[in-house]
Amino acid sequence: MNKIKLALGVSITFITIIWFLTNTLLYIPFDSNLFTKSLAQYTGIIAFSAMTFSMLLATRPILIERRLGGLDKIYRLHKWLGIVAFSFSIMHWLVSKLPEWWSHLDKIIILDSISGATDNVEPSTFSEFLESLESTALLVGEYSFYLTVLFLTMALLKKIPYRFFAKTHIAMAVIYLVLVYHSFALMYIDYWTEPIGIIMAIMMIAGTVSSFIVLFGQVGKKQKYEGSIQSINTYPDMNMLKLIVKSDKWKGHNEGQFAFLKFEKKEPHHPFTISSAWDKKTKNISFTIKALGGYTNNLANKLKIGDSIILEGAYGNFTFNDNKESQIWIAGGVGITPFLARMERLAQLDNKQKIDFFYSAFKLDANLKKKLEQVSAEANINLHLFDTSKSALISGEHIRNAVSDWESASVWFCGPSKMGKSIKKDLKGNGLHSKFHQELFEMR
Ligand SMILES: Cc1cc2nc3c(=O)[nH]c(=O)nc-3n(C[C@H](O)[C@H](O)[C@H](O)COP(=O)(O)OP(=O)(O)OC[C@H]3O[C@@H](n4cnc5c(N)ncnc54)[C@H](O)[C@@H]3O)c2cc1C
Repeated sequence: MNKIKLALGVSITFITIIWFLTNTLLYIPFDSNLFTKSLAQYTGIIAFSAMTFSMLLATRPILIERRLGGLDKIYRLHKWLGIVAFSFSIMHWLVSKLPEWWSHLDKIIILDSISGATDNVEPSTFSEFLESLESTALLVGEYSFYLTVLFLTMALLKKIPYRFFAKTHIAMAVIYLVLVYHSFALMYIDYWTEPIGIIMAIMMIAGTVSSFIVLFGQVGKKQKYEGSIQSINTYPDMNMLKLIVKSDKWKGHNEGQFAFLKFEKKEPHHPFTISSAWDKKTKNISFTIKALGGYTNNLANKLKIGDSIILEGAYGNFTFNDNKESQIWIAGGVGITPFLARMERLAQLDNKQKIDFFYSAFKLDANLKKKLEQVSAEANINLHLFDTSKSALISGEHIRNAVSDWESASVWFCGPSKMGKSIKKDLKGNGLHSKFHQELFEMR
């Protein structure tokens, strides 16, 4: 089981167990009224918990990033928490609406209130206060639910342009704050003195702080540094450009890590892997950028030497760190960037690790080819080049035939996800027992 599935499973199971310590769904004899109310509480709590964890991850916490194995994994988990929140919100909405629809059908199941205020108990000031919030909390909860469905659908539909998604997704932080109010007012009052209430209170505080961090643009603030463009080179056949940026305040990076680059105020920052090893003396950092969409298609025409940019990072855990005697590297197209940095570092050291590097590109640029051949010789790396305008794509079979100890080597892959999936399936299916590391060049 990967770390993302584990984190997701553990957090939902944990909240479920804590909830069951206080409440139940198994009423004996069965009571549909109590069952529906409890189910509304449970689905609401799971949806809220998933949203809270998702909100915490939106602040890009460094400690969790390290534990999960990179920021791309944080975004994966953020997305899956969003899907869990989405599914449980729908269930919560249905369960909360059912009694209303039922009563319209003249079936006599009328709930006194979905919030479940305890009968026959002298109301306390706190319960009276919560009751006074109930009707607005129900109303704003319902509208927040509709907006949540809208924004989460927009986040999941990749056809919606990234820029539009990035700008609108921030609204989730406001919706979250409204849902804090909804949950605070409508959670069973008895829960507040139980473990589930204490956990909900902690989540409400942590989630509220996180949403303010997001709303006030404070995410990653401590890792932002100014830099200026030193040189711009292009690989026209491959639609790629190489930038060298100097940043005096940059704290350094490991090979394989990436940074967010912000070229213009109005444009959201874009993630790019750093394609050079850290050099304390020059403080120069290289990026190799492929024209892959709306913004990057026109980037080469916009930039000029001396332009200042904001760098944020370094993030990521695709750092070639293992004690394996041999490694297999596989890259496709612009997926070469983490390997460029690592090759540069290994060329400076006396590399004893056995490394086979398989690189495929459509119309491999002559200058890039020359550079790869030179650096791989210096770094003692076996280079296998595939120009896919003339030859087939790299397959698992190519790798198995070329590397004698492939079963025990660790594999490091960066490139199109379809290519990664098919090579991983082949190698794992034929007996690879080491880890297949894969950098995901996508954030949603
Ligand atoms: C960890 C990581 C490392 C990357 N490293 C490199 C690299 O070294 N070189 C390189 O050429 N590309 C790299 N990319 C991809 C690069 O970020 C996108 O190609 C670029 O942001 C596309 O922007 P666009 O507006 O031109 O494309 P669009 O047409 O707007 O989008 C194309 C796709 O790029 C992604 N994307 C767009 N904007 C953003 C954004 N602001 N933040 C996150 N993703 C976005 C989305 O998945 C989108 O579907 C990396 C991506 C990630 C996640």
